[in-house]
Amino acid sequence: MARSCLLKKFNPKIKMNMKTKIKKMKRTKRILPLLLMALVFALFFGACDTDPDILDSETALEDEEVAVDQETKFITKYFLGDAVKVQLEEDGTYSLGGSDARLFEEQLSDTPDAFEENPEPQDDRTALAIGGGIRKWTNSTIVYRISGLSSSVRSELQKSFNEWTSKTNVRFKERTNESNYVTISSSGSNSNSGVATLGMNGSRGFIRLGTRATAVVIIHEIGHTLGYIHEQNRRDRDNYVIVNFQNIQNNAVDQFYKSNSATLLTGQLDINSTMMYGSYTFSKNGRPTITDLNGNVLPRRQARISALDIQGTNSIYPPAGNDPDGDTNSCNEVEEWSPRKRYFVGDRVTYRGSLYERDFTRWNFIKQCG
Ligand SMILES: [Zn+2]
Repeated sequence: MARSCLLKKFNPKIKMNMKTKIKKMKRTKRILPLLLMALVFALFFGACDTDPDILDSETALEDEEVAVDQETKFITKYFLGDAVKVQLEEDGTYSLGGSDARLFEEQLSDTPDAFEENPEPQDDRTALAIGGGIRKWTNSTIVYRISGLSSSVRSELQKSFNEWTSKTNVRFKERTNESNYVTISSSGSNSNSGVATLGMNGSRGFIRLGTRATAVVIIHEIGHTLGYIHEQNRRDRDNYVIVNFQNIQNNAVDQFYKSNSATLLTGQLDINSTMMYGSYTFSKNGRPTITDLNGNVLPRRQARISALDIQGTNSIYPPAGNDPDGDTNSCNEVEEWSPRKRYFVGDRVTYRGSLYERDFTRWNFIKQCG
């Protein structure tokens, strides 16, 4: 969110009120069985690390990540209030720092002023596209349309869907007539790679996959579709990892910017996140671009999401079916919005007689109370 990152734990500066604490405890309780499941899964499938096919695909992933277009033409724009370098791609979208995360023009702005970190939940404001806007998926459901994928990539795609649905509240639904959906197609690249737009974007959103794309990559791209940016872009990342700029390819340096916006941050940096770059991603000399604080290389990215990916995702995406109607949409016991409080994606407030839920960069109107 990632979340930049995926955004997981809480800013220690924020004092949670009691209700929030209880809510978080309940959430933790729900997550425990998932953590156990993940542990069993890891132990059981740990042997996969020696599977030559998987090693091949992961090597290909790293090869792809290392292959940077040498003819990058970056321009400076503002995204979530941060100055970022972006490149206009052939399809009209902008790649963030030249990475696989793609942005539409109105998600970027020419000035930092267009971004409001703590917006008011007003109807007129939520109707506007805010610079740097990322929208989460309604009803925790990604609606998708598949176009021209090989059977092998489809199989990897299904594995990737299963990874998210078996561990989080996120659901996938093939499009019938929905106006918001993501098109999943082949990029034509003979590689284990992918690109993806961020969040819900009407009919324009996409995931494009290389012809050798595996679940390792696809799970990550789905993270972008959910609205997450790269984990190493978090502003607190230097408390957890060392970024070795001297080892990063010149054209890839801009992918390692630090986001000043805390909008997406709900947790601590997670080196196991599917949204985290690997130690050798975009290395220009075979030496690590990212290590832990002791200089050790990070675990290789796997075809699974981490415990904190699960926790962060379930904070942002509540169980499907509870929106937009039902008992869980009661205005009772929901606190009034306060300009002095920091909110996280998925939080709910009442404001001038209506119920709102926090999106990444705005408040979504749910219903009028009473
Ligand atoms: Zn990415």
